[in-house]
Amino acid sequence: MISTCENKAAYRYTWPSKDESVICLAHSFKLRGVAEKIGLHLQLIKLDDDGRICNQEVTGVPCGNCDGCGLVANDDERTPWTHWAALEPPANLAVQMGMIRPEECEVCGGEGRVNG
Ligand SMILES: [Zn+2]
Ligand SMILES: [Zn+2]
Repeated sequence: MISTCENKAAYRYTWPSKDESVICLAHSFKLRGVAEKIGLHLQLIKLDDDGRICNQEVTGVPCGNCDGCGLVANDDERTPWTHWAALEPPANLAVQMGMIRPEECEVCGGEGRVNG
């Protein structure tokens, strides 16, 4: 089943040969990964809360373990990475220091979605 993501958009970005798009926090991780793989410099520009909605294509339902972002923190609770990524300094000090790092979610294998 293919539908579109309806999360609040967190960033705007441009992709070669496409118009400017907006993307939610969870999807931005996946897009960064794709860009890295193909060696594309991806610039994500933080959005003010302007009410725009992420419209990335998705299949299945968001993985509950990682909040749909495909990544969890290496802390005891395996907190979805969206939680840590949304923190502003100094609340994210542990991330800045490298004590908390993102790891692939073991439930969805980093996909962020599971078949519902
Ligand atoms: Zn999204
Ligand atoms: Zn997951």
